[in-house]
Amino acid sequence: MPTTPAERLLRVTTIYHEPDIDKYPRAVQILDHFPAAQRIEVPSHQNIPGLYGNEGNVRDWVRNKRDVLVLGVKKSLTARPNGRSSDFIAPSTSNGCAMACSYCYVPRRKGFANPITTFVNIEQILGYLERHAGRQGVKAEPNQCDPVDWVYDIGENGDCSVDAMVSANVRDLVDLFGRLPNAKASFATKFVNRDLLDYDPRGGTRVRFSLMPQDTSKLVDLRTTPIPERIAAINDFVETGYEVHLNFSPVIVHDGWLEGWTTLFDHIDSALTDAAKRQLACEIIFLTHNAELHEVNLGWHPRAEEVLWRPELQERKRSQSGQLNVRYRSSTKRHYIAQFTQLLAAKLPYCRVRYAF
Ligand code: SF4
Repeated sequence: MPTTPAERLLRVTTIYHEPDIDKYPRAVQILDHFPAAQRIEVPSHQNIPGLYGNEGNVRDWVRNKRDVLVLGVKKSLTARPNGRSSDFIAPSTSNGCAMACSYCYVPRRKGFANPITTFVNIEQILGYLERHAGRQGVKAEPNQCDPVDWVYDIGENGDCSVDAMVSANVRDLVDLFGRLPNAKASFATKFVNRDLLDYDPRGGTRVRFSLMPQDTSKLVDLRTTPIPERIAAINDFVETGYEVHLNFSPVIVHDGWLEGWTTLFDHIDSALTDAAKRQLACEIIFLTHNAELHEVNLGWHPRAEEVLWRPELQERKRSQSGQLNVRYRSSTKRHYIAQFTQLLAAKLPYCRVRYAF
């Protein structure tokens, strides 16, 4: 029987994999790590009959996240310019997630199931990143991402703390950025994986712990580490040599929302050491939700939709990929952002805001 949070989160019983996957050493390591899992060969990690695109799988939303792992090869390697939280989005070493936040944008691209896919050609990805960072040279001017280093987001499509339970990809990335002189890895996380405290980041990795008031988190952040445990981990990560920032995201507006954030900021202030406070910064991201995801969520977790889907407060916007997103009306959102940042400045004056959106 599973006993630890990690065991409850991930109990891989089925591994879908691309053909000839065992020619990659990382794939062999992962298969050895889950020896009892049933292995099913599939034409491609994106083409898994019966998993993606199958509306019936909404009922098994969480079970698929817990039991299924997909192994594939990342074909196109590009670092996309970003400029908001990071300078570049690194080519992903995974996508999908074993946690189940109701607002998560990752499954929008995948249809009705979203287990972890791990990419096993890690050597190629590391080589690409090293060459890409080398070509950037020294960062000429500070920007909102970082005053000194080029920042690469390594966890855009999942959660690296959980990925680190599947394979050594995250350790390899932390090692790489620990030795690159001009670049830093960065990822947001909602899971505390203390195995990462055995790595040697040497200041080259920024962990952004995602935080929101615990009551709201309990409703919408399913399968994640409780907020008090995330806060309690911050000092340890700073001591180990990570840069630790806070990702206040998503900020969800509801009755009494600012009281919840007041309590959270007080908690953070009382928990952090001076060393953690000195290096602190944050990003603030108000909720963006999505019409298709709303429909999916109604099939497995309708209660969360009561706070996420608020048409009377939100406006609709068609995304570049054609999806129908909803976010707080821009006129009122400006007001919410001002309220939030004023509260933050009063409660955590040492916490620099990298950006608020
Ligand atoms: S932890 Fe991140 S990637 Fe995972 S479900 Fe939540 S929002 Fe999505």
